[in-house]
Amino acid sequence: MALREPFPADHPFMPADTFKDDVIVVTGGGTGLGKSFAQMFARMGGRVAIVSRSTDHRAAGIAAVEALGGRAIGVQMDVRHADQIAAAYDQIEQELGPISVLVNNAAGRFTAPAEDITPNGWRAVTQIVMDGTFFCSTEFHRRRVAAGQGGAILNIGATFAWTGGPGAVHSAAAKAAVTNMTQTLAVEWAIDDVRINTLAPGLFPHEDVAAHMRPPPGTEVRDRTKQMPAGRTGRLQELAWAATFLCSPYASYITGHTLVCDGANWLRHRASSAPDFTPVREWARRERVA
Ligand code: NAP
Repeated sequence: MALREPFPADHPFMPADTFKDDVIVVTGGGTGLGKSFAQMFARMGGRVAIVSRSTDHRAAGIAAVEALGGRAIGVQMDVRHADQIAAAYDQIEQELGPISVLVNNAAGRFTAPAEDITPNGWRAVTQIVMDGTFFCSTEFHRRRVAAGQGGAILNIGATFAWTGGPGAVHSAAAKAAVTNMTQTLAVEWAIDDVRINTLAPGLFPHEDVAAHMRPPPGTEVRDRTKQMPAGRTGRLQELAWAATFLCSPYASYITGHTLVCDGANWLRHRASSAPDFTPVREWARRERVA
């Protein structure tokens, strides 16, 4: 037995016009989870701006939204640079109207023992996740306050914010900062009708995994479903339902929350049944060299 399969992605969820008056920015919305968020907002009437660095990624996100009959544009932007964020928001507001929902989904990651991570590697990951989330959120908040309008922000976190992430100290530390930032900004901005929450996904496989995170050709791919208490990994629509709900008017009293969507995987650890411990520097270096 396993947790039951969800409804298909096109099954009716919230009312079809839930986001008809909204412009939604999805950072990193051209690949993986971000692309499925963009599609789910579009299914419920939202106009979507996909912002990221790669033209090809943005084009893929736009095509995915348009395939559902939705409206999307792509704008070049690196979330690490506040000036690029302001310029991108200007362009989006000219083309689609005022931005009312922000999804901070962009991230970068690689596996390495902590002592192998260079200052540049550390900065790249932490700046995309931590600085990017902060810069995109504060620019969004400034504009909503200036317009006298509220809005919703959703950060995409990770459960290793709480457990630590051996082999990914940069990403785990930055995601912990995002969960903490969510709590602070929720209190500061509730008075402005700006809500902010975090969604922490479990394992959601997709076809857009970056080349450096794929198993090297010829290596045996582990069946990850065997690790899951749920008996299966997550389906993209399960996460996208949670994401759109948290940004919707139906979550109007939820702010400062981090919602885990992982089939209980992060809660399963029990030392007595764990496999023998392997030092991170053994498996992380082996994975990169293999
Ligand atoms: P992904 O496919 O690698 O997507 C990352 C996206 O971020 C890409 O579209 C990339 O676009 C964008 N990006 C990276 N650096 C950027 C920058 N400096 N400025 C703007 N955009 C940037 O990853 P994913 O698996 O969909 O993950 C999405 C989110 O979920 C991440 O926050 C990740 O940490 C989180 N998450 C995922 C899982 C999972 O199972 N997949 C589990 C836990 C948490 P460009 O290359 O075009 O810039």
